[in-house]
Amino acid sequence: MANLKLVDVEKTYGGTVNVLNNVNLDIEQGELIVFVGPSGCGKSTLLRMIAGLESITSGTLDIDGQRMNQVPPSQRGIAMVFQSYALYPHMTVRENMAFALKLAKKPKEEIDAAIDRAAKVLQLDQYLDRLPKALSGGQRQRVAIGRSIVRDPKVYLFDEPLSNLDAALRVATRIEIAKLKEAMPQSTMIYVTHDQVEAMTLATRIVVLANKGVAQVGTPLELYETPNSEFVAQFIGSPAMNLVPGEVIETGAQTVVDLGDGRQVTSAVPTTEADKGLKVNVGMRPEDLTATDGTAAITGSVNYTEELGEVTLLYIDSPQSDEALLAKLPGIHKGLRGSTVALTAVPEKVHLFANGTSLLYR
Ligand code: ADP
Ligand code: MG
Repeated sequence: MANLKLVDVEKTYGGTVNVLNNVNLDIEQGELIVFVGPSGCGKSTLLRMIAGLESITSGTLDIDGQRMNQVPPSQRGIAMVFQSYALYPHMTVRENMAFALKLAKKPKEEIDAAIDRAAKVLQLDQYLDRLPKALSGGQRQRVAIGRSIVRDPKVYLFDEPLSNLDAALRVATRIEIAKLKEAMPQSTMIYVTHDQVEAMTLATRIVVLANKGVAQVGTPLELYETPNSEFVAQFIGSPAMNLVPGEVIETGAQTVVDLGDGRQVTSAVPTTEADKGLKVNVGMRPEDLTATDGTAAITGSVNYTEELGEVTLLYIDSPQSDEALLAKLPGIHKGLRGSTVALTAVPEKVHLFANGTSLLYR
């Protein structure tokens, strides 16, 4: 049960390798914050600084208003759940979960009560006397989480806890973690993942890390609907948002952008008279494109399709873009390869960026 405050946090490894700068975050009690970002952007580093496993080069970390910079990991009230869940093979589930509490010389009644509580939350009640080898991978991961829960930490930190699991188990364990959070609404969790679906489904708020800092913080749908930059727009959502260059020709409550060759698109992003002539990138998500008989934002020939059953992905060669543009149509569409398509998006789904920044965030 805790809130965390990071102010101007910087990390430089060994005095020379600068990894993070100006990280400012306020995390409220009860939140499940997800860190996402490209590989090597500093997600684990930030988590380890919060845990106390890495020093904070400059800036401050407060938990519940107390400065933590110099506080050793064991005294921060934090539990870290790692990717690999090393359980003691010769100990039962109960013994595994009791281990840290026994070391801390807690009374037996207190240990038993903590284990019963954790086992209930994790639905491990029936497995307490089993050895790890008699458990499924998902159950073992739950025992590993159980070992943290019994210590009743203020903050749970997860660094890609599901990345070693196969696809089916990932989904099942993801749902377990969501339920775990529901069962402990007061606990604060920080969760690192590179998996879009995990981020979108688990997070109360997502922190996108990039370029050595925080690119954007928001609820999953805020980041999806109103990304503040081309980077976030293309990072959140899969396949990535299409970007097409154009020029603002009409301004006001709605903005009309000329895309060349007689093509235009209208965006619900407002602009002012001064924006007339502004060079922009128009952002349209593949799932927001639909076929049109009117003025198309995108035209081109379908050079490849992927029929996934629930959706069909069209890869479109267009004179407007060096890279293939993508459209995601619901349902099955056969025989579109080689055909010409004309697509557009409704104004509410058309994003505008200038110099990499969303016009909504100027
Ligand atoms: P992520 O978890 O987002 O993939 P990391 O936090 O592990 O990224 O790493 C961020 C950057 O810091 C990487 O460029 C990595 O090489 C570097 N780094 C991580 N640990 C160390 C270290 N102990 N010494 C020097 N550089 C490190
Ligand atoms: Mg990492």
